[in-house]
Amino acid sequence: MPGAGGRPGGRPGGPRRPRRKGRRRRNREELQPQGIATYTPQDAPVPEGEVVIERGSTAKDLGPKLNRSAADVVRFLLQQGEMITATQTLSDDMIELFAADVAAAVRLVDPGQEQEVGLQQLLAVLDEEDENEEDLRLRPPVITVLGHVDHGKTLLLDRIRSANVAGDEAGGITQHIGAYQVEKDGRLLTFIDTPGHEAFTAMRARGAEATDIVVLVVAADDGVMPTTVEALAHARAAEVPIVVAINKVDRENADPDRVRQQLSEQGLVPEAWGGDTIMVEISALQNLGIDDLLDNLLVVAELEDLRANPEGRAYGVVLEAKLDVGRGPVATVLVQRGLLKVGDPMVAGAAWGRVRALIDDRGDQVKEAGPSVPVQVLGLSEVAEAGDDFVIAPDDRTARRVGETRGQYARIKNIAADSSAITTGVKLEDIFEQIQKGEAATLNLVLKADVNGSLEALTDSLRKLEREEVKIVFVHRAVGGISENDVQLAATTGATIIGFNVRPDRKSRDLADTEDVEIRTYEIIYQVLEDIGNALVGLLAPEYEELITGEAEVREVFRVPRIGAVAGCYVRSGTITRNAGVRFLREGTIIWKGTVNSLRRFKDDVREVAAGFECGIGLSDFQDLKPGDVIETFARREIPRS
Ligand code: GDP
Repeated sequence: MPGAGGRPGGRPGGPRRPRRKGRRRRNREELQPQGIATYTPQDAPVPEGEVVIERGSTAKDLGPKLNRSAADVVRFLLQQGEMITATQTLSDDMIELFAADVAAAVRLVDPGQEQEVGLQQLLAVLDEEDENEEDLRLRPPVITVLGHVDHGKTLLLDRIRSANVAGDEAGGITQHIGAYQVEKDGRLLTFIDTPGHEAFTAMRARGAEATDIVVLVVAADDGVMPTTVEALAHARAAEVPIVVAINKVDRENADPDRVRQQLSEQGLVPEAWGGDTIMVEISALQNLGIDDLLDNLLVVAELEDLRANPEGRAYGVVLEAKLDVGRGPVATVLVQRGLLKVGDPMVAGAAWGRVRALIDDRGDQVKEAGPSVPVQVLGLSEVAEAGDDFVIAPDDRTARRVGETRGQYARIKNIAADSSAITTGVKLEDIFEQIQKGEAATLNLVLKADVNGSLEALTDSLRKLEREEVKIVFVHRAVGGISENDVQLAATTGATIIGFNVRPDRKSRDLADTEDVEIRTYEIIYQVLEDIGNALVGLLAPEYEELITGEAEVREVFRVPRIGAVAGCYVRSGTITRNAGVRFLREGTIIWKGTVNSLRRFKDDVREVAAGFECGIGLSDFQDLKPGDVIETFARREIPRS
């Protein structure tokens, strides 16, 4: 039963519908006499040569590409009998018709396709730069530590780091950003400090080859374990040289010879036995043999002759990424070639932005980072994924275009990969009815959460709710606030949006209203599961609608003696009331919840402040607001279920 309980009848602007020419003509005659603005082709020249247009473009996208306005496109289509708004998807036919009318040559491509090509070209440009042998300089080796659990990987990484922090400032504050550099005899080594092969293989699975040398840690008392063999296989698959660290030699029952024997059986024969594998005995606990290990790593690095061009646009890989409350999306990247600089227009996966700041592994701001240097990057539009590559685009516009299109592309691929069954989902409130009718129901969800951890946890738990008669499909899952894009996606797929510790902004909320998309927000995982579990058995709890009663934007934060921090705000909509429930949002993510504890206009305490006015909101225990944050007050109201 198509569309049951979902989006009735589908919307215009969904999948393209072929139109018959006859109908167009008739409508044109009907429409014109009614005085609807006639489309007059402008004289403005269209771009020369072939213009690339993405399938599914809107009039707003199409018009400007052909030197026309969105309104021109809309008016033209209206004359052809197609009632379409500037933001609705155009069919291929419509795009071609319009192009023909303005005598432009267009080539239709799938979304993302052209940008991927563009990106490849970008990379090709960088490749060319790299081909200049004389520009290549030695770079530090990038080292990953693998081995069985509890064999001492973490302690080894800590020891190396604390003993040899680059530029050694004893006692200097170190910061875990996912990788660090140390100095040994005037030479640098870069260590990736997420040990274990899960991260290593996850990166490789995404096509990232970040590691030059693998240190395989084997505890001398425990010997070669299944994970050791697995790690070895991964290192071999990556075709990187392996240096063995036989750890815990301080232990009484340590038996390094047995380890060498076991490793030989795996094809790793120690140099001492005529093989070519370097094996170093160490004790991470007692700090023994660490220098020896580093020396050997430098020897291997030298043999590998690792080189990169330290100039030009940077290229590299994302090691870690997260959403930081104070700083927005933060990505730790490893530069693989070129020089990464503050101000560079970066694209990392679908994230893009101008590099606002670079922070090194000691927490210091730096201006630039060269090959093999790990740095945190601030200023990206969203949370990139570990294993994404990054490039520096020639300009901001290109960075944005590539990033945004990749995002769309990923979403489309996501949908395709997750299910062939994304037709139209059934609304949460209607799902039980459908199940009762004995029809298999699909619950489409768009899942947004504040951090990756909760996103994964939610996904796993929700999957467990799946039953034969109900299929749960994640149309899209991502970290971050609920955006208009999410709502649009939910609208086209009939999905319900679940937000965990994140909120929609006003624009997304408005769009959800017009598109009739249900957004449910939660702050406790258990409640999400309970709600959805209940919906599946027809017991959907009364929905508490949250009425956003007021929304204020923080303009400035200042300190008032005896009162503490006060946020100077501008009330954008509704009213802010004292003692109302309040949430502080930064980029759509909830950063604090509580109540308004003082409200002032000028020097007076007031009970409420209406839209269009400025006010001071006293902050109690939460003092970390910044200009641009949003303060939202709300009330709860039960919505009776039909
Ligand atoms: P990982 O799981 O491989 O990261 O292992 P950890 O670094 O967490 O170490 C596991 C345990 O072994 C910890 O209790 C360490 O203190 C201990 N350990 C690590 N290295 C040594 C060592 O050289 N000698 C001894 N005796 N214990 C060690």
